[in-house]
Amino acid sequence: MKGTVTFSKSGIKFILLIILSVYISFLNSDDIFSSEKKLQIITRTAPAGIGVVRDRVIVSVNDYILNLTGYSEDELVGKHAIMLYPDKDESDFVGMEKYRQIRERGSGTVETRWLRKDGSICHIILSSTPININDLEEGVIFTALDITDRVDMERELRESESRFKALHEASFGGITIHDKGIIIECNQGLSEITGYSYEELIGMDGLLLISEKSRNMVLEKILSGYEEPYEAIGIRKNGEEYPVRLHARNIPYKGRQVRTVEFRDISTQKKMENRIKRSLYLAISFLFLAILLIMLLKSSVNKLQKTKESLLIKTEELDRFFSSALDLLCITDLNGKFIRANKEWENCLGYSESDLTQHRIYDFIHPDEINTAIESFKSAEKSGRIVSFTNRYLCKDNAYRHIEWRSSIYDKFIYHAARDITERIISEQEVISKNKELEKLIYVASHDLRSPLVNVDGYSKELEYSLKIITNIMEDNNNNSEKIIDLIKIEIPEIFDSLKYIRNSTQQMDLLLKGLLRYSRNGRITLNITAINMNNLLKNIKNSLDFMLKESNALINISDLPECSGDEIQLTQVFLNLINNAVKYKCPDRDSIINISGTKNSSNCIYCVEDNGLGIANEHKDKIFELFYRLDPHREKGEGLGLYIVKQIIERHNGEIFLESILGIGSKFYIKLPIVLKKK
Ligand code: ADP
Repeated sequence: MKGTVTFSKSGIKFILLIILSVYISFLNSDDIFSSEKKLQIITRTAPAGIGVVRDRVIVSVNDYILNLTGYSEDELVGKHAIMLYPDKDESDFVGMEKYRQIRERGSGTVETRWLRKDGSICHIILSSTPININDLEEGVIFTALDITDRVDMERELRESESRFKALHEASFGGITIHDKGIIIECNQGLSEITGYSYEELIGMDGLLLISEKSRNMVLEKILSGYEEPYEAIGIRKNGEEYPVRLHARNIPYKGRQVRTVEFRDISTQKKMENRIKRSLYLAISFLFLAILLIMLLKSSVNKLQKTKESLLIKTEELDRFFSSALDLLCITDLNGKFIRANKEWENCLGYSESDLTQHRIYDFIHPDEINTAIESFKSAEKSGRIVSFTNRYLCKDNAYRHIEWRSSIYDKFIYHAARDITERIISEQEVISKNKELEKLIYVASHDLRSPLVNVDGYSKELEYSLKIITNIMEDNNNNSEKIIDLIKIEIPEIFDSLKYIRNSTQQMDLLLKGLLRYSRNGRITLNITAINMNNLLKNIKNSLDFMLKESNALINISDLPECSGDEIQLTQVFLNLINNAVKYKCPDRDSIINISGTKNSSNCIYCVEDNGLGIANEHKDKIFELFYRLDPHREKGEGLGLYIVKQIIERHNGEIFLESILGIGSKFYIKLPIVLKKK
């Protein structure tokens, strides 16, 4: 402590004893002052606490004690000395020890603690000497010196030393203090690093802990007083060398200048460093590789990007092709489920892409043709080849259209290109039926025209034969005109008969040729479709047939008829034919009654021409509409062309004709024609 003179314990005791002896000598001197006076002077001037106790009761104290304890004189004098101690044990101990020493050597000194009035503790050295050694009851003079500062310092020093020791021991490295190379102190860490025991190390030359390889270098550092950390090679007791880091400092120690050195075994650190170096090397290699890879990857990515871009262009091109193609294009999975379809599906069949993606391709194929389609897809799946097939396909408006397919399978998808060939099929069917008609015509030409021709030929020969007979008669009976006339008269009926048959035949041929002409004209006439007032049309027909109807005793009843759209001339021909047939094929037993009626629905008008004529047997019901078909060619006069032409006209109007008939009862011919569409 600054400005404080510190004394050792023995020094203090010595001072206290001097004070005591001075005090006692004053007490025994009667020359100058009375005892009382002397005591007061000593008490006041003494540099330590002085007091008197009698039987441990305080009799008097000086100012030093009052200052030290914080009590007033009144508070202390007359009180038991116990009040100055922290507890009874310490008070008893001081009392016992002090009297023991007095008994042994006439005075006693004890180091103890006092409790100040403010509750704080002070350390004191207490020395006591009896006033009369032979009668302790006269009292004991004591002196007290405050040594609190010294005790505190000693405690702090001890604590500091303990802390230093603990730190010293706890250090990771070895710590040594050497004086000119000779180790005078070291910690446990140094033993652990070097393999020498504490005892072996103390007094040992510290340079022996350093390998010869770096001993000179270390020596130089010691001599130059180098204080920065540096690395050297250490050597253990077992001869093993190891990398060591040394950090030295010159310090004063116990009155001399020594050097502390911290040894730090850096083997692990070196290993770590090597490892780190290796890792670093590896990391750099990896980095290099990574850079290479990144460069490669980048070029791949660039290539990929370019491929992606060209793929995108191709996809766009395909998409454009897909959506602008005039064919029906679609993609399905192997179960036939639609995945994509182009716009043409909507244009052609009425289905949007979203309609289709909820269905399978089979859902719209005509039931009769589904199996063929499935078989075709299976064979495509097996062979991997494109398959072509045709079927009827249901449109959104419930009509069927003929679709031609080309399908191929690739990677679990079926790619279909299809086209509507309905028009082509219809044309083909028309060609087929035209061919049939042609065949029929050839048949007629060869058969129906041939029989009258045979007649003409036969009867012409008869005529020739008759003329030869007449010529012979005339030559044989040169001048006998009467005989000639008689003989020619016999031949003349034969000639007339022949001529009659020849004319009949030519008439029949004429009829057939006219019919053919009508037929050929009929096919070529273009239709002039208008709204037809059927009531007027039928009234006009009835008027034109008036003579015939009266002659045949036939009756026509016409109901109110709905309007239809059609060609007026052609429809007149239709109804004229039907009414003609009704009269022509009347039942001989009854007068002809013809009823004409008509109904209408949202799209069509249906007219009925009903008669009570001969009726038509079931087996002929379809055939009567064929070209030149007649039920009884020998008895009937017609050419079997009327109903064929009627059917052709009705079909050209997109209508239908059908028949209900009971043989012997009568017939009903139904004609379906489109209604008049209202203009918007
Ligand atoms: P045609 O010009 O010879 O009368 P159609 O084609 O008009 O020929 O009729 C074909 C055949 O149908 C006729 O030969 C006739 O036998 C039968 N037929 C037509 N209309 C009737 C009818 N209303 N009642 C009974 N048979 C009929």
